Formats: sequence, C-alpha cells, structure tokens
Amino acid sequence: MIEQTLSIVKPDAVRKHVIGEILRRFEANGLRITAAKMLHLSPEAAARFYVVHKDKGFFGSLTKFMSSGPILVSVLEGENAIAKNREIMGATDPAKAAAGTIRRDFGTDVEQNAVHGSDAPDTARWEISFFFGQLETHPG
Ligand code: ATP
Ligand code: MG
Repeated sequence: MIEQTLSIVKPDAVRKHVIGEILRRFEANGLRITAAKMLHLSPEAAARFYVVHKDKGFFGSLTKFMSSGPILVSVLEGENAIAKNREIMGATDPAKAAAGTIRRDFGTDVEQNAVHGSDAPDTARWEISFFFGQLETHPG
C-alpha cells in the first residue's frame, strides 16, 4: 500500500551536516520526498508535537533538545513508507540500532537520535498536517 509518513532530521543531525546523506538514504530505498522544509521549533511548538509523551520523564529534556536548533521536516511517500522509514532509521536507542541504519550511524544517544519517523497511519496524518499545508505537499 502506498503510504505517506513524516520524517524529521533532528537538531543533532543538522549540526552534524548529514541532512543530505539522510535524505539520500530515503531516496535510495525507494521513498519519494513529496514535501520538505527547514524550521526552528520553539519549546512550545516542540511540546505540541510531542504531546503524546507529555507524561514521560524525558519530556522536558526532549522538547528542549528538539527546539535547540533547526530541523528538516519532510514527507516521504512510497510502498509501506511508515514501516520502511522506521527500518531505515533503526531502533530508538542508537546503541541498539542495526548496522547501517541512520540512528546507528549518526545518533548520539536515546534522545539525540538523529531522526523521527511516524509510527502509524493516523499519527502520520496528524504529524504531516502539523507541519504542512495542502499547497506544500506534492504527492505522486
Ligand atoms: P520518534 O518518535 O522520534 O520517531 P521513536 O518512536 O523511536 O522515535 P519514541 O518512544 O516515540 O521513540 O520517543 C520519541 C523520542 O523521544 C525519541 O526519538 C527520542 O528522541 C526521545 N526519547 C525516547 N525515549 C527516551 C528516553 N528514555 N530518554 C530520553 N529521550 C527519549
Ligand atoms: Mg515515536
């Protein structure tokens, strides 16, 4: 099934100058980039995006990190895009991520783990609409 998913190159990976390498891996694995932009979240906006984690112990640290510098948000489209993107990203903790995954290669720790990817169709739809309006996406 053709799906769309939201990807974020997080502030740590932007600081490491690996935006191009990360987007290259998506395209090399058959995912099309149908929307993209760079922005710098405020702490309040990061808290809105990660509202599902508001009761977790790491919430304050996570929103501070996600607002610590610019990010690159994009929409990836393709066959099973949600699962495929998460496979390319690797496990949340870079130390446990498989060899050759983005998080293994560019993540620092379980928080500063280089990328975000939606985890289900309903969260993908919500996350895409959080960042992109209809005129900013170019499906196909
Ligand atoms: P993401 O949602 O970013 O794609 P994920 O689904 O693998 O990653 P979640 O459990 O949804 O992981 O956590 C969201 C984000 O919160 C993680 O990507 C990471 O940046 C941060 N995080 C998760 N667990 C921890 C933790 N134990 N300590 C600090 N930060 C964490
Ligand atoms: Mg998640």
